[in-house]
Amino acid sequence: MRRHKSLNLMNNKGFWPEKVAIVDAIKDILTLGKCRRPLPIKDYGFYRDVSWRNEDNDLVPYQSADWYVYEALDEERMQVDSRRILASLRTEPWRREDLLGDHYDLFIMAEDMFDPDRTRGLSRVDYSVGRSAPLTAAVISTYRIEHIWGLPYSYLKTEVMRQLCFMFGVPGQAREDLLAEGDRLYCPNVCILRPAHVAPDDWERLTEDRLAKGALCEQCTGELREFFEQAAGEEG
Ligand SMILES: [Zn+2]
Repeated sequence: MRRHKSLNLMNNKGFWPEKVAIVDAIKDILTLGKCRRPLPIKDYGFYRDVSWRNEDNDLVPYQSADWYVYEALDEERMQVDSRRILASLRTEPWRREDLLGDHYDLFIMAEDMFDPDRTRGLSRVDYSVGRSAPLTAAVISTYRIEHIWGLPYSYLKTEVMRQLCFMFGVPGQAREDLLAEGDRLYCPNVCILRPAHVAPDDWERLTEDRLAKGALCEQCTGELREFFEQAAGEEG
């Protein structure tokens, strides 16, 4: 799969003051990764195509941010299933070469989210803040990090930076020091790619470290630079 391709932003929150954290997070990741060939970024905002509802007022598949969320909603839990929304993003018709073609999706939603894979075992919490699929898509729920006593901008920035790295395959499987949780790999160092479960507390800790010591440890920084170096070397 290609590494150099456009990064499409989508959310279902409309205008909210913390939105700028997304762009700031992307800038920081490109800078940290010494990216010399920036990914084209397209912001679809609160995505709703002109034909997002049909004549019966039903949501039309793939035509709105609302549909992606509704399609993945677990109605018993009233939480969005991260595996299902990532599957929709991975298989959406927009990826066809005659439409948008291959790209990254970064989807930010207001609803609470859960990870069905994690709920089966290791979990200490029954929600999830962010999830990603390699070289394809990342989804983030702001529900738990917009805590009234927290710093929504900073926590969101931390999480966008984390999920971008995970989507780019950092930290990668070549390292032997990584922590595995299910099929997820995390960094053991003082680094935003550490595991995080409890919101907002864990995001507070990651954010404090990010501001005091930098976002990524040396190994992860090296891997991110390698990723962008490979991306820059791709043709087209
Ligand atoms: Zn690290």
